[in-house]
Amino acid sequence: MRSVDPNFLPYLAGFDLDHLDAHDNPAYGIWADGRLAFFNQAWFEFARRNGADAGFRAHWTLGANLYDALPEVLREHYRKHYEAALASGEPWLHTYECSSPSIYRQFQQISYPLPERAGLLIVNALRTSQPHSAEPKTPDSHAYLNEHGLIQQCAYCRRVRRQAPGESWDWVPEWVSESPPNTSHGICPPCAGHHFA
Ligand SMILES: [Zn+2]
Repeated sequence: MRSVDPNFLPYLAGFDLDHLDAHDNPAYGIWADGRLAFFNQAWFEFARRNGADAGFRAHWTLGANLYDALPEVLREHYRKHYEAALASGEPWLHTYECSSPSIYRQFQQISYPLPERAGLLIVNALRTSQPHSAEPKTPDSHAYLNEHGLIQQCAYCRRVRRQAPGESWDWVPEWVSESPPNTSHGICPPCAGHHFA
């Protein structure tokens, strides 16, 4: 199973779509303006695991804009790199963390510019998977609420900011499964240093 905008298909002619469907992790295509135009088979498995979330389904559909689906704090960062890849014709390669509550996972994403700068093919691959080494913390709301009553979570690695005593960014598995409603997204210092420096 795959899903593709028929007008996008000619731009994927250089890629083996059966191979992409056999790939273990999501791959998707966007037009130059960010509209989603292709999903591979692994995408649907990923979507099924996120299927309970209506917001997710509304954002991740053919014709919807990828940039609308990204957390606001990451949107311009991705746009800058995707547009640079389109302009230069050079793939953009980066790693990011997308851990489950119990497993630390690092992914590599390669964004391939397509012919005529029509769009990008974005392929995600698992690089590292191991149990978390950081000691998991319990979701003690008082320790993590800031002065505005919000929990600050890193949009990249999903650690949350402990307010007191002394700031730290902690791994709270319960809040990875489901962010509390009073969550605001930011970037933790290591992610800011790695991705935005
Ligand atoms: Zn982070």
